[in-house]
Formats: sequence, C-alpha cells, structure tokens
Amino acid sequence: MKCSDAARLMHDYLDQELPRDQCKLLQLHLRECPQCEARFRALERTDALVHAMPAVSVPDDLASRIMKSLPKSHKPKAWTGWVQRHPAASAAAFFLVVMLSSFVAMWNQDDQLKLSGDVEHVVVRGHTVIIPAGQTVKGNLTIENGEAQVLGEVEGNLTVIDGNVTLASTAHIAGKVKTVDRALDWVWYKVTSWFDTVAYGS
Ligand SMILES: [Zn+2]
Repeated sequence: MKCSDAARLMHDYLDQELPRDQCKLLQLHLRECPQCEARFRALERTDALVHAMPAVSVPDDLASRIMKSLPKSHKPKAWTGWVQRHPAASAAAFFLVVMLSSFVAMWNQDDQLKLSGDVEHVVVRGHTVIIPAGQTVKGNLTIENGEAQVLGEVEGNLTVIDGNVTLASTAHIAGKVKTVDRALDWVWYKVTSWFDTVAYGS
C-alpha cells in the first residue's frame, strides 16, 4: 500500500466506514510505516478532541470556507470530500497539524528551568528537580520546563509546567499535583478561536 492510499483509508477508518479487509491492509501498512503510524495517531487524537468538544452549530457553508482558507497546495481531491463531510473535524485537524508542527518547536526554544516556592529543600540536577527522601518542601512548589522527582514531602501544591512528575513510594504531597502543557493549551485556544472565525465570519 502506498502512503497516499493509507492516508485516504485512515479517515474512513476513523469514521468507521472502512470495510474489514481494508482495515487489515491499513493496519499492516501502519505497522511498517512509522510516518503513517504517527499521522494516524495524530488523527486519532484529533478525532477524540472533536468528539470531546462542546456541540457547536455548524453553518452550511463552513466546509467551503475551510477549503478556501487552506493553502492551495494542501488541497488534494481526496481531502475535499472529507472536509465537506466533516467540516468541524477538518477545522480542528487542520489547526492541530499546522500548530503542533510549527509551534511546539517554538515553545521548546524557551526551555530554561524555572523554580518558584520553597527551593531550599530541593536538589536541582540539570532539568530535574529532586525532593529528596526525608525533606519537606514548605508550601507550594512550581517547576517550569523540568522534571519533578518526589521522594520526600510537599506541604502544598506541586505544579509542573511543561514537564513530568515522578512520585516515589515515599512521596507525600499534601496538596494537589498539577501538570500543565502550555503548548497544548495554546493549540486548544487557537483551534477554538479559529473555529469562531471560520464559523461566524471575521
Ligand atoms: Zn506510509
């Protein structure tokens, strides 16, 4: 199977309109082709996102407005039909692809570790902030662009922006653990505001 064929089948697959024998062929291709596999995962996420969105009323001409707003080179025939059948999903998909590819890179440029709160009881190693076993962080701790490794205690909330949290079995956090993905929030904001522009005219 060619990648272009796989791309076409993915949409039908996610619409649950793909015959079973073609599903098998698609799955075979995805197993062998990392690029299509990645594209499929992205589409799957978009699909889930669209279904999680609050119901918006979709004007009749939304599809044609989306097609007009797409750059000419991104307008192969196979897409046109899908966009017309799924104007809302197309809007989200289009934005996710464009935004994720261009803006995640932008975000990653500012990757300096920033710490706020009680920093006296933590150990910083590169981009990893460790709260050692037996140590207690008084109050809240906020970590930006870093990984948190919690072995000790946090008396307040632990917030990690653009990073991950690892909790050891000895960890104890009295408040809430919150992770924030700014790039994703931003994409989400862009998708919804672009939606308004396309749906209701600018
Ligand atoms: Zn492929």
